[in-house]
Amino acid sequence: MPRYEYRCRSCGDTFEVSRPMARSADPASCPAGHEDTVKLLSTVAVGGTKSSPAPAPSGGGGGGGCCGGGCCG
Ligand SMILES: [Zn+2]
Repeated sequence: MPRYEYRCRSCGDTFEVSRPMARSADPASCPAGHEDTVKLLSTVAVGGTKSSPAPAPSGGGGGGGCCGGGCCG
């Protein structure tokens, strides 16, 4: 379950809330009970979903297959 980080504007505290993504937009009250909180755009730890970036094709040219920049030694 992803965790979202919030910051309370009443006491300035930051806290994390674990909730389903479907409820990510719901308001969250800080541990002290304040409801004036804002969601922070921080790293969200998602368990299960792995999205790896698509491999970018090299500039083209030769048929290297490996990196053409020489990073393979
Ligand atoms: Zn608070």
